[in-house]
Amino acid sequence: MEYSAPRGTQDITPDESGLWQHVESVIRQTMALCGYSEIRTPIFEHTEVFERGVGATTDIVEKEMYTFRDRGDRMITLRPEGTAPAVRAYVEHRMASRPQPTKLYYIGPMFRYERPQAGRYRQFHQFGMEVIGVAGPAADVEVIATPLDIFRALGITDVTVNLNSIGCPVCRPGYRNLLKEVYAPVLPQLCPSCQSRYERNPLRLLDCKSQECRGYMPDPPPIFEYLCPECAQHFSEVRRLLDKLGVEYVLNPRLVRGLDYYNRTTFEYTVGGIGSQDAIGGGGRYDGLVEELGGQPTPAVGVACGMERCVLAMKAGADAKRFAGGVDVFFVSLGERAAERVFELAFQVRSQGVSADFDMMGRGLKAQMRYADKVNAKFVAIIGDNEIDRGTVALKDMSTGEQREVPMAGLASMLREGR
Ligand SMILES: [Zn+2]
Ligand SMILES: [Zn+2]
Repeated sequence: MEYSAPRGTQDITPDESGLWQHVESVIRQTMALCGYSEIRTPIFEHTEVFERGVGATTDIVEKEMYTFRDRGDRMITLRPEGTAPAVRAYVEHRMASRPQPTKLYYIGPMFRYERPQAGRYRQFHQFGMEVIGVAGPAADVEVIATPLDIFRALGITDVTVNLNSIGCPVCRPGYRNLLKEVYAPVLPQLCPSCQSRYERNPLRLLDCKSQECRGYMPDPPPIFEYLCPECAQHFSEVRRLLDKLGVEYVLNPRLVRGLDYYNRTTFEYTVGGIGSQDAIGGGGRYDGLVEELGGQPTPAVGVACGMERCVLAMKAGADAKRFAGGVDVFFVSLGERAAERVFELAFQVRSQGVSADFDMMGRGLKAQMRYADKVNAKFVAIIGDNEIDRGTVALKDMSTGEQREVPMAGLASMLREGR
């Protein structure tokens, strides 16, 4: 019996793990540059954290969570997103009593029971940033602009920033009523989920994915024209600061996001060339969430990006093999005495910080050379009886094909320089 990974999951094999490590290191470097600290939360949480933190009327909570009762009769959910756990941890560990703001980032797997397709998995990976404790627009702009630096560093171009403001508890109810008026005449034609959202959360009508449904809906009145003075001021400051940084964006009044805890700024990145799942990330302000999860009322804003989509977008423009690893030196041995010597030498140069490998299969010269080439060794060090007697190795540079004899003693330091 042979098994395959569960539907909607994938192995990241050695062919691709180098690319993933590259993505992760770019994220970590950028986060360090911007003063963010990593938060690592459990893979699962009490279900209530997501019911309260993500919102009971969202697709995520209604139909996508992996929820189960554990052996201690607790309701447990595999995390479908990273913000609610980060905020739960912020409240639990009293981070508000530390110097503010709290700037957190995370990288890791998330779980949603969705229909798998290109770039969409049931176990997928996200990186995200959260700024907790800042009401002003600089925080919004930092979390919008910073992932763009990451995308650029990864070679992902053709990214569009979609921007909207969904107001606040003061101005949103009026807009909700306006939406209901606009859509009342077409309500009977709309899809079942729009029908049920019409009463509970009419804003969500705007991001219905059904093309048929959209055909019936007149364009919505842009919400950012109905903001209260404070929300309007915040939105125009966000736009001014984005302009100042030279970040281009398009206003997208349909961008309401599926999460109930968002207010004011919402944004989404879309990227060309990766098919229908073209959203690569997004986020917004969630001033109500900290209180919802048991903390003091605290403003906050965050972003999350899909790493599978990043990898997909990178592969559309680059060769994944470029990121495959490879040792600094592969030791090729001729004969038994040499085999014993390269074994020692490999451990010796490794202890001096040079990555090294050697033949363990008892192969002949040609097969060892072929293997060294396949595993991307930068140099090959060939050792036979003559070399052992002279205390040297024949060192071949695999990129130029150039070969010369060098003393064994200085090998490690030479290879470190040759890197
Ligand atoms: Zn408002
Ligand atoms: Zn619909």
